Amino acid sequence: MKTAIITGGAGFLGSHLCDKLLSEGMKVVCIDNLLTGNIENISHLFLNENFSFVKHDVTNFIHIPGKVEYILHFASPASPNDYLNYPIQTLKVGSLGTHKALGLAKEKGARFLLASTSEVYGDPLIHPQDENYWGNVNSVGPRGVYDEAKRFAESLTMAYHRYHGVDTRIVRIFNTFGPRMRLNDGRALPAFISQALKNEPLSVFGDGSQTRSFCYVDDMIEGIFSLLMSDEVYPVNIGNPEEISITGFAKEIIELTGSKSEIVSFPLPEDDPKVRQPDISKAKKVLGWEPKFTRREGLRLTIDAVINAKVTL
Ligand code: NAD
Repeated sequence: MKTAIITGGAGFLGSHLCDKLLSEGMKVVCIDNLLTGNIENISHLFLNENFSFVKHDVTNFIHIPGKVEYILHFASPASPNDYLNYPIQTLKVGSLGTHKALGLAKEKGARFLLASTSEVYGDPLIHPQDENYWGNVNSVGPRGVYDEAKRFAESLTMAYHRYHGVDTRIVRIFNTFGPRMRLNDGRALPAFISQALKNEPLSVFGDGSQTRSFCYVDDMIEGIFSLLMSDEVYPVNIGNPEEISITGFAKEIIELTGSKSEIVSFPLPEDDPKVRQPDISKAKKVLGWEPKFTRREGLRLTIDAVINAKVTL
């Protein structure tokens, strides 16, 4: 039986990855310091003998006994609210945390997969964004803590690959949504769902013409797993290219929830990307992967999950 370590495994994506790798017949060790994660995301796994949880800050030395075949490094604050609240922790986990996780992969001879982000493209000057685009990031802006941490993490991953021969993968994750995402993390999608279900006004920043592309979590997890099992060392975009303006999206959420909410405008935050859409040609060609859920299908499943979980909105 193979063993996988997932850092950030108690978070939104990490917990879905724990489920996926267990279902693929692996042992899973989840390492998380619960900075932005939630133990509830993995509590259903505690009786599974192939699952274990270690509460640990991965910016410190990581020791896990025994054989390890895969290390998936997902630990990092990920939403604007989180990385603006924890700017130093974000830089530390992208740099020191990635260093410690790569060191462990080298020691164990394990394959390493880095969770990178579409934010490495910054406020992009080409559209849609493919993997050859180098990005347009403001290193000294407030969002720079996240974007630069991930750019450094990619660079360190390639250095460990080239210099130490570690078998590495890099996934550039575009906006993902689904059950277990936090409703108050500052992103448009959870905020709109929460506001619409309460019949409160939906807050659109700027004139609402900026675009986003949202990927349903089940598609994202399949894409990440395909990359993990592939031979591709260079970064691969995983996301859903179905693009929509923020105003169009707010209207869609109002329609899908049957809400009485109106739309109100607020000033655009600093360095907010104006467009965002993945070019997934490489994922299609190299991994044979493409998303199966439309945004509307994913939204229906997510809204149902929010209502059925009877969460306090
Ligand atoms: P999340 O906040 O739900 O999960 C991140 C997890 O990392 C949390 O459980 C948190 O407690 C843990 N963590 C943070 N710092 C840590 C540390 N020093 N030591 C140990 N654990 C630590 O976020 P998510 O949305 O699941 O994102 C997971 C990964 O995917 C992140 O690396 C993020 O940058 C990347 N990503 C996510 C998205 C998305 O749309 N959700 C988009 C692009 C990239």
